[in-house]
Amino acid sequence: MSPVTVVTGGSRGIGAATARRLAAAGHHIVLGYHGNHAAARAVLADVHAAGRRGAAVPGDTAEPTDVVRLFDAAAEFGQLTGLVNNAGVGGSRTGPLADLRVEDLRRVIDVNLVGYLLCAQQAARRMSAGGAIVNVSSGAATLGGPNEYVHYAATKAATDALTVGLSKELGPRGIRVNTVAPGIIDTEFHAGVGNPDKATAAAARIPMGRAGTAEEIAGAIAWLLGPDSSYASGAILRVAGGL
Ligand code: NAP
Repeated sequence: MSPVTVVTGGSRGIGAATARRLAAAGHHIVLGYHGNHAAARAVLADVHAAGRRGAAVPGDTAEPTDVVRLFDAAAEFGQLTGLVNNAGVGGSRTGPLADLRVEDLRRVIDVNLVGYLLCAQQAARRMSAGGAIVNVSSGAATLGGPNEYVHYAATKAATDALTVGLSKELGPRGIRVNTVAPGIIDTEFHAGVGNPDKATAAAARIPMGRAGTAEEIAGAIAWLLGPDSSYASGAILRVAGGL
């Protein structure tokens, strides 16, 4: 039986690369996305071209009913075996904490933390032995995002704590939970926070001298979802070019 994996934020960036990679490795894919229908359709077409089944489900991971709908869609393809908890935002405004508005803080926390918790909860309820969850956090969890988005960094540190705790809850049931913590990756995420040139501009302070690609993160996620990592649980795998 083919694995059935939910990838949140699967329409663009890291999630899209992950969906494509997992489909090529034999997973049926249910990708969640917020509103970019054309991008989601393109990823789904590649899933089908790889010979796998799948669906693209719009919704907001911060909304419990949307999250249930996403996981119900996955149930159409069989037993849920994987979750890539990835849909995240940096917030429409960034800057020193003192300058940010309450609504900026709340939205980032709602999507990046409440959304991850709601998705992990559905996976915990629906998975059986052999299942695996990969939470996508960020190198910001330890770097802190000063003068840019400390609230975002805080949600990513919380994601790492989610991995540690949930791996202990679900280990006895044979379900593994791990984190991939990317460094600066060249996706549209940075345009979303008003800093479209970040991947290029940051290259000089990254030990490897360049930003990463979404495909390089997808490789780490695929490893943590697959049988080659069968004894890894509660791990925080930093993939950040040395940053
Ligand atoms: P991205 O290119 O901006 O893509 C974001 C994805 O999340 C899109 O598929 C988007 O859907 C979806 N999404 C956003 N808000 C959502 C919501 N409320 N409900 C459902 N889906 C939602 O971002 P990315 O760079 O691939 O980042 C993916 C993850 O990696 C995030 O958790 C981010 O924090 C983390 N990360 C990124 C970097 C980086 O440098 N890029 C570094 C470290 C960690 P639509 O297409 O419909 O908008």
